[in-house]
Formats: sequence, C-alpha cells, structure tokens
Amino acid sequence: MSAKLINGKEIAAQVRQQVAAGVEARKQKGLRAPGLAVVLVGHDPASQVYVGNKRKACEQAGILSLSYDLPEDTSQAALEALVDELNENPPAVDGILVQLPPLPSHLDADPILVKIRPDKDVDGFHPYNIGRLMQRKPTLRPCTPAGVITLLDSIGTPPYKGQHAVIVGGASNIVGRPMSMELLLKGATTTVCHRFTDNLEKFVGGEADILVAAVGKPGIIKGEWVKRGATVIDVGINRMDDGKLCGDVDFDAAAERAAYITPPVPGGVGPMTIATLLENTLYAATCCTPTPDAPSRELFVSGGGNPPNKTPPPKRGGFFYGRAFYCPYLALAF
Ligand code: NAD
Repeated sequence: MSAKLINGKEIAAQVRQQVAAGVEARKQKGLRAPGLAVVLVGHDPASQVYVGNKRKACEQAGILSLSYDLPEDTSQAALEALVDELNENPPAVDGILVQLPPLPSHLDADPILVKIRPDKDVDGFHPYNIGRLMQRKPTLRPCTPAGVITLLDSIGTPPYKGQHAVIVGGASNIVGRPMSMELLLKGATTTVCHRFTDNLEKFVGGEADILVAAVGKPGIIKGEWVKRGATVIDVGINRMDDGKLCGDVDFDAAAERAAYITPPVPGGVGPMTIATLLENTLYAATCCTPTPDAPSRELFVSGGGNPPNKTPPPKRGGFFYGRAFYCPYLALAF
C-alpha cells in the first residue's frame, strides 16, 4: 500500500479534546455545560449503538446528555410534541437530535426535522441550515460532510482549489448533497454521481482528485478507477453476511494508487461524525446561550441587529451577520 492513511479515529479524538476544552472554558466563566437531547424511537439495534456512542461521547466531552428513549408505537403527534417541548424547555438543551434513519415506518421524519429549531439543529438537516450552506453562509452543518472536511483539512495543504472532487452517492440529503456543497464552498470543482448516473467509471476513473464514496454498496468503487495521487474518503458502511463491516471502496487496490485514503470502517469517517456532532453542540451553546441581557435564542432569526453579549463561537472563526453567525473562511473560499 502506498497511500497514507487519514486516521479518522485520531483526528476525531483531537476534535473531541478541543470540544472538551471549550466546554471547560465555558464552565470556568460560570456558564453551564452545553446540553444535547438525543431522541431515539424504537429498538433498531444499529440506532441503539449509534445513540449509545453519541451519548458516551457527550459525557466524555463534558456535554450534558439528555436521553429520550420512546417506544416503537410513539405517535407522530407525541414525537412532535416532544420536539416542541425541547425547543423551548428545558433551557439547558442546546441541541436536539432525533436519531434517523430509520424511524418506525408509521412516522414521517420530514415534519420532525422542520420542527426542530434551526439554532438547536445540531444534525444540520433543517432546511434553514441546509439553505445557509447552499448560500455560502454555513451555520450548523450536517455532521458527516463537515467531518469529512475536517479530515481533508487535516492532510495539510487543503487540496481544494483547482481540484476535481467527485462525490458518489451525491443525491442523499444526509451525506452526498451537503458534501457536494461543502466541497464547492472550499473551491473544488465538483461532480455529483448518483443512482441514475450511467457509467460511473467514466466519472470516477482517473478523474477524481478528491473522491468521496457515500453509497452504501460494498466495493462499488473499484480500486483501479482511482486516480494516482488522489485523496479517497470512504463514507459507506456495509454489513456483510458474515457480520463484518466494509466500505464502498475496494480498499486494497485503491490504497495502491491513492496518496491519501481513509481506513476501512470503523476507523474512518464514523468517529468524525460524532466528533462533529459535539462541535456543533458546543457551537450552538456558545452562540445561543441566553444571558440576562439576551434572554431569548434568536441566533438564527433573520433580520435585526447583532445579538448582545454573545460570546464568539469555538473554533470556526467569524462574525455575526444580522443575527446569524457568519464564517468568512468558508464563505470566501473562492
Ligand atoms: P442514501 O441511501 O440516502 O443515499 C445513497 C446515495 O447513493 C444516493 O445518492 C443514491 O442516488 C446513490 N446511489 C445508489 N446507487 C448508486 C449507484 N449504483 N451509483 C452511484 N450512486 C448510487 O444513504 P446515505 O444515508 O446518504 O448513506 C450513504 C452511506 O454512507 C451508507 O453506507 C451509510 O451507512 C453511510 N453513512 C456513514 C456515516 C458515517 O458516519 N460514516 C454517516 C451517514 C451515512
């Protein structure tokens, strides 16, 4: 293997340490710890594992984790009522995450996602937050694509401008679409491939300087398609008949051609997704913690002046634009 591994576990651990330091700094200033409400409906085993990992990661970073485990037969109205409650009370909830997919089949995720207040939408799926990303003014960003950007940044000189990024699985709201927006924002020239793309090899083969695979089909990306010297990010998680996990990329052959590659699951993108969730929660708390002078959480409400007494957010430097936090290093990528 000639490629260097992009060590997702290690980079995620660094991010988690930064978040823990940010939480501690808040406490030193007399502010409360950020709070994340995680809602799980039903008993899907994979979701239970993901949620358990998220809750554990919160606790390790000093973030208050509030658990809402609801029975499989929870009604749409009951779930929406819980989101309403978390939107307003308790005030210690800075982030709300409803574990998707899958919700039980009688529940509709879309109204739930729209109901979560954008300033508490730490998954970054609310149309407001997706719209901000589209408009080059990102606020809370979907965790997996934002985590991929952190991985790419970790390589050193970010290889974006003048580079051709190909996103396979690019139609999905959770990974592919926001991923393409993130890469466009960074200045890459992007190609989006999806289930209706004919001849995937034509778009991937020898063309992609940055290749992101997020399909959920084992080995859909053949190693010999990978351009020599490319950076390959495998987001896919596939459980095989023998119970083992594998990604979307034919790792061994791809690693012979790529310059950088994520290791096969679970060492790559997954840990970064959770680390980014923690970042988002701290970001939401830092931007939105009510103070005596600013008792309401209006960060994401359009119009109006700068919110008084808001401390700057952790890490992603920027300034307030109207009442929304603006990240110029991202917006001015090109
Ligand atoms: P999805 O089903 O919503 O989207 C799949 C995408 O693949 C769609 O854009 C679809 O058009 C495309 N696709 C399907 N067949 C294709 C083909 N033959 N050629 C090209 N594109 C094709 O799935 P998702 O939620 O976006 O997740 C994608 C993968 O990423 C899954 O394996 C999922 O488990 C994994 N995932 C990993 C993490 C992580 O943290 N590592 C997070 C989220 C999702």
